[in-house]
Amino acid sequence: MKKVVFTDLDGTLLDLKTYSFIQSINAIELLKSTGIPVIFCSSKTRYEQEFYRESLEIRDPFIVENGSAIFIPRGYFKKSHSFNSYMIDRYEVIPLGKSVDRIRRTLAEKREKYKLKFSCYSDLEPEEVSTITGLDLKSSRRAMTRDFSETILRGHLSDACYQELKKEGLISIPGSKYETVIGSSTDKGKAVEILISLYANEFGRIQSYGIGDSKNDEAMLEVVDEPFLVQRPSGEWAPLEKTSARGVIGVGPLGWNKVAKMIMK
Ligand code: MG
Repeated sequence: MKKVVFTDLDGTLLDLKTYSFIQSINAIELLKSTGIPVIFCSSKTRYEQEFYRESLEIRDPFIVENGSAIFIPRGYFKKSHSFNSYMIDRYEVIPLGKSVDRIRRTLAEKREKYKLKFSCYSDLEPEEVSTITGLDLKSSRRAMTRDFSETILRGHLSDACYQELKKEGLISIPGSKYETVIGSSTDKGKAVEILISLYANEFGRIQSYGIGDSKNDEAMLEVVDEPFLVQRPSGEWAPLEKTSARGVIGVGPLGWNKVAKMIMK
């Protein structure tokens, strides 16, 4: 049975503060050496995820911006499928979310209407993004290149604003650090389900694993066969509402290591 691993990045595969993968790299190498795909499923953008994919030499598909689109390296799956998709650069893309232009336009309207004070990536210079997030300048620029979502980095939306976003088909998702506005029909779970079906189409029976650290991983954890939560820096596991996941001892990437070893058994 083909094993497939879906993983969140911030606070899970990567250290929540330093964004380092130094503590999970051995486990990643272990999975790669046995041909187990490691699928990133994160709020991070295509460009951010490409950086980590290249650093770790991971060639598997990946899910960007909280389930807004699936990027599949061209030719990765040999069998055809019936999902709507388009080709861009080295990838076949299955889009599920709303465009970032549409999201930014709506957020700007609400900010004006409710006199809110919040800042998103598109309101800030790379230097400011770097100061707020702790990302270096290059990483900040990668985070600012968005296709399907916008993140509130400073300030907050209001209850009235949430209501209106909902009416317009948008939703705000809390992440490990910031909330992100995406199309409301989008979630990590749908994207994961589609990829599981593509793997099943290709390989037959699949055993799927999910690793996360926060509430916004719940949709992903709900649809995999074996869901895991790593510890938050406080030592706690994120409370989930709709599903139960196995809590492993180990904060972020240290917990990730443990899960990878369990998967290998
Ligand atoms: Mg996370």
